[in-house]
Amino acid sequence: MSIRTDKDEVKNEESCAGFSILQPRVVKLTTRTEVDVRRTLPHKNLRMIGAWCFVDHYGPTNQVTGMTIGAHPHMGLQTVTWLFDGRIMHNDSLGTHQEINPAQLNLMTAGRGIAHSEQSLESKSIMHGVQLWIALPDETRNQAPFFEHFSELPTQNLDGVNTRVFVGQYQGLKSSAKIFSEMVGAEFKTSNNSTKLELDVEFEYGVLNVGKSFEINNQILEFGELAYIPTGNKQAAISSSQDKHFLLLGGKPFGEKILMWWNFVGRTHEEIVAARELWNSHDQGIPDFDDEIKVRIPAPELPNLRLNPR
Ligand code: MN
Repeated sequence: MSIRTDKDEVKNEESCAGFSILQPRVVKLTTRTEVDVRRTLPHKNLRMIGAWCFVDHYGPTNQVTGMTIGAHPHMGLQTVTWLFDGRIMHNDSLGTHQEINPAQLNLMTAGRGIAHSEQSLESKSIMHGVQLWIALPDETRNQAPFFEHFSELPTQNLDGVNTRVFVGQYQGLKSSAKIFSEMVGAEFKTSNNSTKLELDVEFEYGVLNVGKSFEINNQILEFGELAYIPTGNKQAAISSSQDKHFLLLGGKPFGEKILMWWNFVGRTHEEIVAARELWNSHDQGIPDFDDEIKVRIPAPELPNLRLNPR
């Protein structure tokens, strides 16, 4: 059983109706050598949280140079790189070369198509972070790609709770990063024994524990687990006597079915076939670019069936 709920049952395989704890599954990415990645979205019981459609959490590991992800394309989404520790170099087909450090944001809006690579850089510390994807709403998903880096983000220390908002807004803290639906992504650190997390009743949320165990709404949330909180909640109760470190990922329910395959978010089978062909044919619609990795990851074979949006 990879899910447990406050009623100890899952009412519906297709959707998470109520508060529930999602367990990560460990994925070994051939390109992220030696680094275990824990994936909580998409989950068999939950496709998305707001526009958030992909949550990968890696580290902490002392293999600080072990993570290289060769050139690969994206379409129809935004990628968020967010580090708790370590350093990463981002390169993309727009010609961007951008180092990122903890508490900074790399946000890549793929739109109709972009390619990028990422490589962890030597560091005295450890490597620990997340790679997140945001689905673009239909009317914005075919726009031209662009890249943004933010070295400073709105941060608040209030009553022992440190909050940093990287996308969207939370309790008056607003990130300048460009997004296309109502949502939030924020990092929290608190040593308080108990914290009330204020929520927007129109948003659904995920709370990803990236530190020590704590209780959320009286259920234990272990390192790497994600608590799903449906719409209609004004608060969540976070408690433990240990320091707490977590991400809050939320948004208005997306309201569109999406078709996610490999690194693409589309709506139709034909779009995915075309995007795969565009990349594998070296079409200069997504230009080649230079990096230290010198690896171009081809799109895999499509399954022998018609892909449907869900
Ligand atoms: Mn990527």
